[in-house]
Amino acid sequence: MRSRYSAYCLKNIDYLIQTHHPTRRKSNSRRQITATVNGVTWLGLTVVATQAGQPEDQTGVVEFVAVYQEGLQAAQLHERSRFLSGNRVGGFIWMGEMLPPLKPNRNQPCWCHSGKTFKQCHGKKR
Ligand SMILES: [Zn+2]
Repeated sequence: MRSRYSAYCLKNIDYLIQTHHPTRRKSNSRRQITATVNGVTWLGLTVVATQAGQPEDQTGVVEFVAVYQEGLQAAQLHERSRFLSGNRVGGFIWMGEMLPPLKPNRNQPCWCHSGKTFKQCHGKKR
């Protein structure tokens, strides 16, 4: 999952397609992924919870928050993704379920990994 996040940051579209389960790919996957990676800047990834997903497991579930910047706005993607093992690059994403945004505790490190607390960074009241 982290490797897919890195691939988004590095705009490695081939990797993103390879790690998407073949039965879930759409004919416009490449165009859609390209639009996504070019439209935003990823600021940080926080793993909220995991279930299984060790190398010996057939499936795994990861809940994460990925923070990104689109234009002047920072936004978050809060998702629960189900992974299947079985390809040479270390598994496929099977499906992702979008979840409502999570709010970090004001004194927690900001999810954009700036090193500031949330209240001093993206949680600042404007
Ligand atoms: Zn921040």
